Amino acid sequence: MQKKQTQESCPRTSDKRSDSQLQLEGVFVDLDPRIQRAVAAEGYVSPTPIQEQCIPHLLEGRDLLGSAQTGTGKTAAFSLPLLERLATRSRRPAKGTPRALIMAPTRELAAQIGESIRTYGRFLSISHTVVFGGVNQFSQVKALNRGVDVLVATPGRLLDLMGQGHIHLEQVEVFILDEVDRMLDMGFLPDIKRVLQKVPTDRQTLFFSATLPPKMVTLAHSMVRDPVRVTITPDKPAVESIDQKVLFVGKKNKDALLVSLLKEQGVGKVLVFTQMKHAANKVTEKLAAAGIRGAAIHGNKSQSARTRALDGFRSGRIRVLVATDVAARGLDVDDITHVINYDLPMEAETYVHRIGRTARAGADGDAISFCCAEDRSFLRDIEKLLGQPVPAQMEHAYHCNDSFHSTLPAPKNFGRGRSGRPRNRSNAARPSHRRPRRRR
Ligand code: AMP
Repeated sequence: MQKKQTQESCPRTSDKRSDSQLQLEGVFVDLDPRIQRAVAAEGYVSPTPIQEQCIPHLLEGRDLLGSAQTGTGKTAAFSLPLLERLATRSRRPAKGTPRALIMAPTRELAAQIGESIRTYGRFLSISHTVVFGGVNQFSQVKALNRGVDVLVATPGRLLDLMGQGHIHLEQVEVFILDEVDRMLDMGFLPDIKRVLQKVPTDRQTLFFSATLPPKMVTLAHSMVRDPVRVTITPDKPAVESIDQKVLFVGKKNKDALLVSLLKEQGVGKVLVFTQMKHAANKVTEKLAAAGIRGAAIHGNKSQSARTRALDGFRSGRIRVLVATDVAARGLDVDDITHVINYDLPMEAETYVHRIGRTARAGADGDAISFCCAEDRSFLRDIEKLLGQPVPAQMEHAYHCNDSFHSTLPAPKNFGRGRSGRPRNRSNAARPSHRRPRRRR
C-alpha cells in the first residue's frame, strides 16, 4: 500500500516560505496587497479554476450561482473578494449587525470557513465570528456584541440568536450560502427561507451547492439576481484519483485487520469511518490498546472534544481519526493518505463522499473498505453507483471467504431508528433550535 506520488491540481509551495519570495499569478494580483500577502503566506501561487472564474465577477459585485464541491478552493473563491469588499468599504459594524452572513450546514464546516476568513484576513482589520449549536452561546453573544463584519453561522443557532435579539440582519451587504444541497438534505429549507426574509433585498448573494439539479436552480433564482453561473467539475472526478480496494473480512476480525493495515508502511494520516457512534469509540479503544494514537468524533462528543480531536488530527498529533458520517461532514484536512471504511455505508453516495476526504486538491489517495457478510448488499449498491467493481484484495491475513461469497440482503433496520429513517439523519442532522433540549 505505497502512497502514490501526489499530483497537485492547486499549485502550492511545499513549504510556507516568506511571502516576499512568492510571485502570485492570475486573478490574485488584482486583490488588495494585504490579502495577497495572506494568500502568499499560505503558499498559494496561482488561483484554482473556481477562483479564476469567480473572483473577477465577485469583485464587481455580481451575484453568483456556483456548482462546486469542497476541495476545489471554493472557500477562498468567495472569502477573498468578500474581504476585499469589506476592507475597501470599511466601516465599523454595529453590535450584532454583521455586514456579511455566511450560512453553512454543519458546525465543522462553519468553523473551517471562519478559519479561512481569519487566515485570508489576517493583515486586514476585519472582524468575524462563528456561531453554531451544541455549545454555550455566551462567548458567541459576547463576540457579536463587540460588532462583527463577517458572521459565519449554522441555521439553527443563527435563528436562535436572531430570535433572542442578538443578531440583526438589516445591514447585511453580502449573503453567502455554502453547501446548500446539504442544508436541504438536513431539512434546513424553512430556516433558510426565514433568514432570507430578514436580509436586505439590496445585497450581493452567492449560492453554492455541490450539485445543481433543476429544483435547486429554481430555489437559487428566488435568491440571486442575474447571477454568474460557475460549474466546476474537478479535473479528475474524486473517485478516479483514488486507489480503491475492498477487503473481505469477518466481523470479529475487523479490529485486527485495521490495526495490521495501520502498521503498514506508507499509511500516514488515516480517516476511519464507522456506521455507529459506539463503534467509533470502541475502535479508538482498540487502537489505543495496540499503541496507535487515535481519536473519535461523533455526535455524542462535546464540541470541545471534537475540536480537540480535529486540531490534533490536522496537526498530526493524532494519526487516526475515527468518525461517523455526520461528524465528518465538511471535514477538510489536506493530507489524509487513507480513508478506511471500517463499516460500509448504507447509502452508496455516502461512500463517494467518504473516500473524497482523501485525494484533496488534486492529490491521489487510497480508500480501503472492509466488507463482512452483512455489508455485501451495500457493496453491490456502491459498485452499481460507480459503474464498476471495487477491486478486491484477497491476500491478507484476515480474508473471509464467507463474506466474499455472501448473498445476504441488507440487514433489517441496520443503523435505522424506529421510524425507519437512517439514524445518521435523525438527531445530529436535525436543526438544533427545534431539538428538544436535554440535560447533560
Ligand atoms: P476548499 O475547496 O475551499 O475546501 O479548499 C480545498 C483546499 O485547497 C484547502 O486546503 C485550501 O487551503 C487549498 N487551496 C485553496 N486555494 C488554493 C490555491 N489557490 N492554491 C493552493 N491551494 C489552495
